[in-house]
Amino acid sequence: METEKKKKIGIPRSLLYFKYYPLWKIFLEELGFEIVLSDHTNAKIVEIGGNYAIDEICIPLKLYYGHVLNLLEKDIDYLFVPRYISTTFGTYMCPKFLGLPDMVRGTLDNLPPLIELEIDLRKKPKFYSATELGRSLKKSTWQIRKAYEEAIKGYHKFRELMIDGLSFKQAISVIDSKKWDFKPKKKKKKRSAKIALIGHGYNIHDEFINMNLLKKLAGMDVQVVTLENLPVEIFHQNTVISTTLKNYWGNEEEILSAMNYLYEDKEIDGIIFICSFCCGPDSLIDEIITRDVKKLGIPYICLVLDEHSGQAGVITRIEAFVDMILRKKKGLIITAQSAPIEVEVSEKINNKIGV
Ligand code: SF4
Repeated sequence: METEKKKKIGIPRSLLYFKYYPLWKIFLEELGFEIVLSDHTNAKIVEIGGNYAIDEICIPLKLYYGHVLNLLEKDIDYLFVPRYISTTFGTYMCPKFLGLPDMVRGTLDNLPPLIELEIDLRKKPKFYSATELGRSLKKSTWQIRKAYEEAIKGYHKFRELMIDGLSFKQAISVIDSKKWDFKPKKKKKKRSAKIALIGHGYNIHDEFINMNLLKKLAGMDVQVVTLENLPVEIFHQNTVISTTLKNYWGNEEEILSAMNYLYEDKEIDGIIFICSFCCGPDSLIDEIITRDVKKLGIPYICLVLDEHSGQAGVITRIEAFVDMILRKKKGLIITAQSAPIEVEVSEKINNKIGV
């Protein structure tokens, strides 16, 4: 008997792919679909994305268009374009996420049917959204429930692997190979410095757009900690900026929670914040973080990425930052919260790239 050919769903390797891919990949595969990913970000994807997006938009959005166009060259039956409205209680995603399916539909022609999963935790739990999605794909309640259980299991494993210190790429390869009992080996080697590299997953784990910063820092004998390596409980409480100011941006909420945790971590020697050029929420919280690290005397640098960011400029700034931290650790820089810290922070402002 001839087996029915599986329908193919294209998922752009962009934006919240870097956060929820294991969840939706397992869910859709369990429902009987085949997943087709766009290629890893490359120069052509950056170029074609930039041609389709308006100039004023942030680089992650331009890249999203590039990834969708890349998928359109592949043989897919559906295109997965979720609408993330709220992913943590009491916050909203930035407007680009809210309008993503509309922007894709309004800009690009010859699209296959879009799968518009809507995630809005203010109104419904994620399982409801998954159920709506499963029903729209003509699956039974039993199939949806079973697929969702598997997806949640896989997603928790993925989060666990990253908390244990695996990189995004390593954790994904474990999930893809379905090695559910995989346990990462404990790293023994102590590095010269421990630095937190914080930002949106799509900036931190897209090696092309950040010029492989994780690898470059490792090459400088730096132990790198990302937001996903931090304990998951720290993201369960809303952050308070001041008695009168509350943060409403979902993505930034995570970054601020991570920062609050890192401020207390005595092993962290410095923090690098990766922002996107043209990102309103990022520039807003950069001001808050700058104020906090200045008070606490924590070495900090903010790198603003856009499609024109030069490799040499980024490396020079990172090398100078790491060198400054190593000199501080050796006692060659006075650590009192006065002049030297002022220098670091003001250096950070001048050192922004892409502006
Ligand atoms: S949060 Fe910033 S970088 Fe991310 S999509 Fe919105 S504007 Fe772009």
